[in-house]
Parts: sequence; structure tokens; C-alpha cells
Amino acid sequence: METVLTIQQIDGKIADLKRQLLALEPMHPGSLSSQYHVCGKTGCKCTAAPKPQPHGPYCKLNFVHHGKFTCRFVRADVVGEVTALVATFKTFRQLTDEWVSLSIARALLGPLARLERKTKNVPPPKSPRRKKQSQGNQPAQV
Ligand SMILES: [Zn+2]
Repeated sequence: METVLTIQQIDGKIADLKRQLLALEPMHPGSLSSQYHVCGKTGCKCTAAPKPQPHGPYCKLNFVHHGKFTCRFVRADVVGEVTALVATFKTFRQLTDEWVSLSIARALLGPLARLERKTKNVPPPKSPRRKKQSQGNQPAQV
């Protein structure tokens, strides 16, 4: 069962997330993968029979930013550094996702809180979909 937090508790958690976000080191979106390559040149080890040895592995960084997919080769000497950048980005995403979840919970306790019914005889508020249909019931402005 989910624990119900107060607005004050949510604000405290959001403040903590902000502190963690400020402490983040440089980052980069994406994921790393390895790739082998066959150049196909005659006499090269990559085409040798019976046991061809493809070139590599080469490290690649794949990411999507603003809807554009990009793939970059990563030099072997900086794979560790790029791995750290990607890990930091993953942390950034987790923290901001948590922030959004807390913001939604906070709004439900604040401006998006359900209207309290004064008596049991008052019908519950209509859902947003039905609300659209009932707009015709509003008095026309003259
Ligand atoms: Zn080759």
C-alpha cells in the first residue's frame, strides 16, 4: 500500500532531489555497446579462412536527442569516462522522474484535490470527459 504524504513531506523530498540534482557531475544520454567490423580486404585477418577474426570490438554510444538518433564511436581510452557520463545521465533521469511523480502527488493534495461533498445527497463530480458534454447546460452569455 502506498504511503500518503503531506504537502510538507513532499516538499522536503523535492528539496532533497534538487540537492542531488545540483551535485550531479557531467552527463550524456544514451547507452554503450560493442561492435565488430569486417573490412573485407583480401588477406586481412577478418576474412581469413577457416577462422575469420573481425576487427574490434569497437565501443559505440547510441542516443536519441530531440528525436534524432545518433551513434558515435568511443575511443578505448575514454570508455570509462563515457560510461560514467551515461551513468550520471541515468541518475539524472531517475531523479527528475521522481520529482515529476512527487509533483503529481503534490498537485492532487493542492489545486487538483477532489472537491469535498458537503452532504451525501450531492452527486459526485462528473468526470472530465462528461464535463465536456455537459457544457451545453451552462447558461448562454448574452
Ligand atoms: Zn579486415
